[in-house]
Amino acid sequence: MTQSPPLIIGAGPVGLAAAGFLSQHGITPRIVDKRNEPSQLSKALAVNPRTLELLEASGLTDKMLAIGKKIAGATIHRKDRIVAEVDFDQLEHRFPFMLALSQATTERILREDLAERGIEVEHQLELVDSPQLEEGQGELVHTETYERQLAKAPWILAADGAHSIARKSVHVPFPGETYDRAWVLDDIALASDLAPNRAHIKFVDDGFLFLLPVVTGEENPGEPTVWRVLGNFPEPLNYLSEANPMGESLWNSSFHISHRLVERMNVGKVYFAGDAAHLHSPVGARGMNLGIEDAWVFAELARQDRLNEYHKLRWPVDNMIVHRIKTMTGFAKGESFFKRMIRNHLAPHLLRWNSVRETMLHTVTGLDHPLPEFPE
Ligand SMILES: Cc1cc2nc3c(=O)[nH]c(=O)nc-3n(C[C@H](O)[C@H](O)[C@H](O)COP(=O)(O)OP(=O)(O)OC[C@H]3O[C@@H](n4cnc5c(N)ncnc54)[C@H](O)[C@@H]3O)c2cc1C
Repeated sequence: MTQSPPLIIGAGPVGLAAAGFLSQHGITPRIVDKRNEPSQLSKALAVNPRTLELLEASGLTDKMLAIGKKIAGATIHRKDRIVAEVDFDQLEHRFPFMLALSQATTERILREDLAERGIEVEHQLELVDSPQLEEGQGELVHTETYERQLAKAPWILAADGAHSIARKSVHVPFPGETYDRAWVLDDIALASDLAPNRAHIKFVDDGFLFLLPVVTGEENPGEPTVWRVLGNFPEPLNYLSEANPMGESLWNSSFHISHRLVERMNVGKVYFAGDAAHLHSPVGARGMNLGIEDAWVFAELARQDRLNEYHKLRWPVDNMIVHRIKTMTGFAKGESFFKRMIRNHLAPHLLRWNSVRETMLHTVTGLDHPLPEFPE
């Protein structure tokens, strides 16, 4: 009797990465997604050195490096002055930079690699509330024909994002908090003297602005740089004194930030990874990167038939990072007069201390904890 394949729900970056890592170990999963076609959103713009390490063996890092832009460091601005700079070349790592690359391009590279391995994403298949998911039985519905099928799998990886139906099906609590105030982003071409090989953080009285180039691989020489302008308040473009928008935003979005973590990384045969397991603010650029690391750990354990260790190995790491990003975000927001005073006056001085600078560098680059070692 042929055994049914393992099932991955969700073909975002985390589900795709998981399928790729598993395939490298000779495990061929089925991967389904409710979307009609891949997302073209630029969302996560920064691939960190940890992700570049994890994707190196499959040759994907070289493909990403060929398209992305190396970000050498971060510059902090206040009142039109540079008040601090942090450089990634201080890292002792073979990838001492962040790589600016649109999430849609990262996903395309992951998807093409999967296709070369003979795995195609099955689109328009939606996991619906499935009472027997815990036992490895998921109900999939075709989003157009409404045809239903019962997928039986030895295990299911739920990479179905922040609103995970898998998480709801197995009743796993997702405690944490959501900020009331919406954050707003624009991807927009700017005429500016801002160094395009750096991230820029600007402390303003209403909070902060974050700017990073949007790199898709479609850029033409001579075209103005498209920047992600993100603020934790409405109309962030109004706060740009050092840059002029050229034309309309290519993407504008507003969203509410949450810091949350599942109480368990698995229930029965269902395992969680990526946004289905943890959410935090984009400060630190960790969401997608942390999810890809979940996927790598999961695949290593699957290879060794040790999935029962996934929660024990992964939950403490994800917990530490969600808490750390929440603290960093609270500091950056500066939402009361007192907090702003501390941020504006202390941050530039603190960043001159080696220990503070190293903690920030290691957090942003994903190198703030070692990877577990797995015997060959
Ligand atoms: C503005 C912004 C900036 C960000 N910047 C960064 C950054 O710089 N670096 C970083 O690391 N992260 C960043 N992130 C976070 C990052 O985008 C997410 O962490 C990442 O997309 C999570 O990937 P995922 O695969 O877990 O989930 P998703 O990307 O949400 O993918 C989930 C997939 O599952 C599918 N799906 C959902 N429900 C079902 C269902 N019931 N059945 C079948 N399929 C389903 C969806 O269609 C989707 O394709 C940013 C996020 C935002 C919004």
